[in-house]
Amino acid sequence: MRVLGIETSCDETGVAVYDTERGLAADALHSQIAMHAEYGGVVPELASRDHTRRLLPLIGRVLDEAGLCRADLDAIAYTAGPGLVGALMVGASTAHGLARALDIPVLGVHHMEGHLLAPMLEASPPAFPFVALLVSGGHTQLVEVAGLGRYRLLGESVDDAAGEAFDKAAKMLGLDYPGGPAVARLAEDGDPARLRFPRPMTDRPGLDFSFSGLKTHTLTAIRRLEADGALDQAARADVARAFEEAVVDTLVIKCRRALDATGLKRLVVAGGVSANVRLRDRLAREADKRAATVYYPRGRFCTDNGAMIAYVGTQRLLAGERDTLGEMKAVPRWPMDGLQPPEEG
Ligand code: ATP
Ligand code: FE
Ligand code: MG
Repeated sequence: MRVLGIETSCDETGVAVYDTERGLAADALHSQIAMHAEYGGVVPELASRDHTRRLLPLIGRVLDEAGLCRADLDAIAYTAGPGLVGALMVGASTAHGLARALDIPVLGVHHMEGHLLAPMLEASPPAFPFVALLVSGGHTQLVEVAGLGRYRLLGESVDDAAGEAFDKAAKMLGLDYPGGPAVARLAEDGDPARLRFPRPMTDRPGLDFSFSGLKTHTLTAIRRLEADGALDQAARADVARAFEEAVVDTLVIKCRRALDATGLKRLVVAGGVSANVRLRDRLAREADKRAATVYYPRGRFCTDNGAMIAYVGTQRLLAGERDTLGEMKAVPRWPMDGLQPPEEG
């Protein structure tokens, strides 16, 4: 089965073809980052319009690269949510239109299930069950994963997501959007001993996160340095470093707890923040200590992409799941614990 995957939930247009025989046949991405950068964040209306402009040409390119034509496709999967409603509708309506024209099944899938299973596209994918840390621009969650659609939420952020906190800290430091990579780069030059930021919600049991206090703490530190006339480039790097250490340490502490609580030895880390090098280093050391293994998607599949959508769609389509003809889905808010395993088809 060859499945076209379409991702348009936010600010990247992602397209891929997953082939049950060949694996990932081709994938391509158009990022809108440069377009939104001048506004310091994603402008929803601009995002939908750009998806409209980019999606069909990108589908053409991916099919070319895979050496396929539209008639070779057996099904289409698209991101049905969560995300920006206008952006989602572009992917959903395109998927439904194409599916109707080609007379093939179409299925709307969950964006976070895509992130969660993105490591399945790698050469040594994790076996079920495992613990997953989903850390992206909109989510910070620990999930116990028993199989496809068998998810138990262990903990999540009660306020900002980790990626969102990175983006906000970047803004305070005068760095470009998206902030994660920029903060990480600046933090390289920072002195880890100069400032210490709190590790929120680690002083009590539980697997929930909170990152909004850290944001306030960062702002206060910047203001204090500014007031002392000490906010030079070195000081900004120290702030970035203290911030990154605090987020990473918090994530690592909670992962450790989640592995302890479940007794599992496999940890999947996915979503944009999983690209963070310091997080990966710390988790590698932690995994070593307890003979556990950490799994990641390859770099370009940490953030939004069409490959993860094609993959998840394929798994569910194989089990016989599909949308009702003409009923496209665009669900801006869609908690992942509402997901079910596919019924055996
Ligand atoms: P969601 O998947 O929750 O809907 P999203 O799709 O916007 O949100 P992703 O595209 O998965 O999120 O990830 C983008 C986020 O990852 C941004 O917040 C970005 O700052 C963060 N990020 C990317 N690279 C890094 C990095 N190296 N270090 C820290 N954060 C990073
Ligand atoms: Fe995402
Ligand atoms: Mg994104």
